[in-house]
Amino acid sequence: MAEKLLKFVSLDQQMPTKRKSESRLQDFDEVYARFDIAGAEKQASRCSQCGVPFCHIHCPLGNNIPDWLRLTAENRLQDAFLMASSTNNMPEICGRICPQDRLCEGNCVIEKDFDAVTIGAVEKYIVDTAWENGWVKPISPPTELDQSVGIIGAGPAGLAAAEELRKVGYQVHIYDRHDRAGGLLVYGIPGFKLEKDVVSRRTGRLEQSGITFHLDFEVGREGSLTDLREKHDALLIATGVYRGRGLKVPGVGLGNIREALDYLIASNKKGFGDDVPEFENGNLDAKGKNVVVIGGGDTAMDCVRTAVRQGAKSVKCVYRRDRANMPGSAREVENAEEEGVEFVWLTGPEAFVGDADVSAVRAYEMRLGAPDGTGRQAPEPVPGSSFNMDCDLAILALGFEPEDLPALFGAPELRVTRWGTVTVDHESMMSNLDGVFAAGDIVRGASLVVWAIRDGRDAGSAIKTFLENKNAAAA
Ligand code: FAD
Ligand code: SF4
Ligand code: SF4
Repeated sequence: MAEKLLKFVSLDQQMPTKRKSESRLQDFDEVYARFDIAGAEKQASRCSQCGVPFCHIHCPLGNNIPDWLRLTAENRLQDAFLMASSTNNMPEICGRICPQDRLCEGNCVIEKDFDAVTIGAVEKYIVDTAWENGWVKPISPPTELDQSVGIIGAGPAGLAAAEELRKVGYQVHIYDRHDRAGGLLVYGIPGFKLEKDVVSRRTGRLEQSGITFHLDFEVGREGSLTDLREKHDALLIATGVYRGRGLKVPGVGLGNIREALDYLIASNKKGFGDDVPEFENGNLDAKGKNVVVIGGGDTAMDCVRTAVRQGAKSVKCVYRRDRANMPGSAREVENAEEEGVEFVWLTGPEAFVGDADVSAVRAYEMRLGAPDGTGRQAPEPVPGSSFNMDCDLAILALGFEPEDLPALFGAPELRVTRWGTVTVDHESMMSNLDGVFAAGDIVRGASLVVWAIRDGRDAGSAIKTFLENKNAAAA
């Protein structure tokens, strides 16, 4: 085995081929190709099988990374797939969209001066290969149990919990207000990061496993939380966070100033071939427009890169700090720049200008001042530095907060924090309502897919314990 591994000294790090930007701009397909078998084996063989694998420690799912890298290097792909799936409900999705530079790969310590093992790309390769070879099968539980669990939200947290509970044999029902399952995997994250059939084959498998999806079902409109509590033995709230953080500047009420998620949802629906009146009438289509996106996180990156693909005349990303201090991933900034996006660093919006619709963003230059309470240098406006940027579509990408869930659900008794996230006991994952659990962004605040999966898995096992105790008490 040793001769198959520890190749980091003789082999350079290599990512799968990246499509050229001219080709990327023609469609919403993924940017990175997939390894071929030789490429995956070679890159996996760079792992030095650390005794204390920091990659594993910094993966929120505790993936057994060195083990599946070794199995890949040995061409034992089916075993690698089983190993990767034992800790992760959607490894090929994480392999595509985890910010690996901040998680597993950022903590890969093969040796000073050698680049990290390309863990995410190998994970994607292993599990895509498993799908193609028919190794990914529907779940067949060892027994059918009478108890049922209702899950509100078909995002990664809800789907991971559903899978874990179905494996045991519970009757699982997922309710989602959208017409497709997947949460932000389908309607937030654009296809150039995550193609949609990668998500639908996962949700399709859950359906084939006997999980019932109730789509176009908004809890609070089609049924209340109380109705669902009466129907099921336990409930999981996994509704994510959707309220865009506002901006209080003059002119913010003008036409064609839109929230990032409205814009991305419309674009993703168009990608499915749906009728989207707001897109067709031009309001949410960037084609031919001067687009200004305000914000510096990954959502802002997704908006600017969507706008260039829609054929915008110009696309600017306005961010109040500099490149080194932006929250979005460096890899995504590089991709956006290659695709023609202009970053306007150290700039803050002062006002939106226009009659009925926005025609310009007035902005001022910023400089980084003294560190604030978090230790980050606080940006402050440079006096007399105002300037105008042409703008026919402004997109606000300033982060997300929870909706008012107790009001939305018609359940004022549900306890939430002052930020609106659901309060849970961190061990039992149960809210203040008996048998009602919560997981994912609605507990953590806006986070990552891999953390939502982790929370969903933990909630699945907490619900199992709760139902077993309930049975034992009734016996
Ligand atoms: P969600 O995925 O938000 O799913 C919640 C589901 O609940 C939705 O389907 C919603 O329709 C449903 N729902 C809400 N209210 C109700 C109701 N009342 N009744 C019925 N259903 C309801 N993370 C990464 O790791 N990598 C990335 O590249 C990345 N890119 C992102 C890009 C964008 C634009 C955004 C917005 C987020 C991104 N994230 C990324 C973050 C990631 O998508 C989330 O952290 C993750 O999806 C949270 O999962 P969740 O299951 O908690 O919630
Ligand atoms: Fe890395 Fe994410 Fe995969 Fe964990 S799940 S190994 S963090 S890519
Ligand atoms: Fe392999 Fe890097 Fe993990 Fe070490 S830290 S086990 S070299 S992937």
